[in-house]
Amino acid sequence: MREVKPRNGLLIDYEYCTGCKACVVACAQEYGWGPGMGGMRVMEVIQPLPKDKAYLGFLPFPTESCVLCAGRTRKGLKTACEQHCLANVIRHGPVQELAKALEAKPRQVLWAPR
Ligand code: SF4
Ligand code: SF4
Repeated sequence: MREVKPRNGLLIDYEYCTGCKACVVACAQEYGWGPGMGGMRVMEVIQPLPKDKAYLGFLPFPTESCVLCAGRTRKGLKTACEQHCLANVIRHGPVQELAKALEAKPRQVLWAPR
């Protein structure tokens, strides 16, 4: 039987994301991305609420350019975005473990590329 290689991914708890974009900058510095390019984007989410109020949230999400910092993690280092996230909301690891953590808490995104 063919052995299935465990996949890695990123789990991002966007509930506590401050929108600081340190993850975007860290990825750009690590890989030399130019403006508008990179492995991470942070989207601003504005949700109108009653009585002229609004909820402002942030949704960080990896792009197809994310290589999961394979070179760094092979050396036992954290991914650059995980390392520099001041709110400590990015976690890299095996998809199965991350999926369990996702089940335990809502308002997170799981990125698990092939
Ligand atoms: S894991 Fe690495 S390549 Fe992917 S977004 Fe984070 S810093 Fe960029
Ligand atoms: S570094 Fe962390 S807190 Fe800042 S935008 Fe990225 S995910 Fe959010």
